[in-house]
Amino acid sequence: MTELPRIPLAGVIGHPIAHSRSPALHGFWLKRYGIKGHYIPMDVAPQDLRQALEILPKLGFVGVNVTIPHKEAVLQIADVVTDRAALIGAANTLIFRKDGRIHADNTDGAGFIANLRQNAPNWNPTAGPAAVFGAGGAARAIVAALIEVGVAEIRIANRTKPRAQALRADFGSKLHIYDWVHAPNMLEGAATVINSTSLGMSGKSEFRVPLDGLESHSLVTDLVYNPLKTGFLLEAEARGCTIVDGLGMLLHQAAPGFERWFGQRPEVDEATRQAVLAA
Ligand code: NAP
Repeated sequence: MTELPRIPLAGVIGHPIAHSRSPALHGFWLKRYGIKGHYIPMDVAPQDLRQALEILPKLGFVGVNVTIPHKEAVLQIADVVTDRAALIGAANTLIFRKDGRIHADNTDGAGFIANLRQNAPNWNPTAGPAAVFGAGGAARAIVAALIEVGVAEIRIANRTKPRAQALRADFGSKLHIYDWVHAPNMLEGAATVINSTSLGMSGKSEFRVPLDGLESHSLVTDLVYNPLKTGFLLEAEARGCTIVDGLGMLLHQAAPGFERWFGQRPEVDEATRQAVLAA
């Protein structure tokens, strides 16, 4: 009897997971490209992570996205870790290879850059320093990506300073640490200004660092995409800056995983954005 090909399954593992927009995004692409496959949100508690990653490939999964709180822990379980995931210390995309090995990558930084290139085509990352608010997991991916595209000076301020200092220890002398209270000083001459804190997210505190020093030539972007136009972006826009919201990063970071799992490079366009916003 000829064996029917298995329908590829992928998904996202996190805890909690109900808020994730990834199922709507991948579901839209699967439908758009007529691919017989499924993308499933899975709530996996930390103590079940290892077991889940053993079982999923046997059930027909070709890979998963990984979100909070598993992004760091999966590195200990994966068999092959890309250099950038190792440097960042976290993975967001796993590929379950046919030989049984788990391959871990981090596509957040590439998604960040692709979003800016798509939505601000005149952006020149090497025109001046980058100023980064925040030093969490997302900031690590962004710093790695900024270094990769040739940014010579990255200024960084975080409420909890040791976290910013840890980034400098890992990424080197291109990083310049500012005290959180002096964060506005980072803005002078910055080509790129990034909010990578969770401030401004719906339900969280507002971003209150004074932005009087923002210069109109700066490209300003926020990783928070709920709301789409955060207070941070509104103020930057009022000061004449080019602004890019964070939704495009979410869309672009997802594309490499979709391509590896389902064999089709998905296009990130307005219809994709609208499908995710409508979900
Ligand atoms: P994380 O590791 O938990 O880091 C959170 C960051 O926010 C830290 O720098 C933290 O500072 C700062 N922060 C939180 N509350 C603060 C407050 N009241 N005052 C000052 N700073 C505060 O989270 P993450 O993974 O880096 O994510 C950060 C944000 O980026 C989240 O909103 C996340 O949704 C978003 N994100 C978006 C994308 C995308 O595709 N657009 C991708 C990844 C992440 P401390 O160190 O002092 O706590």
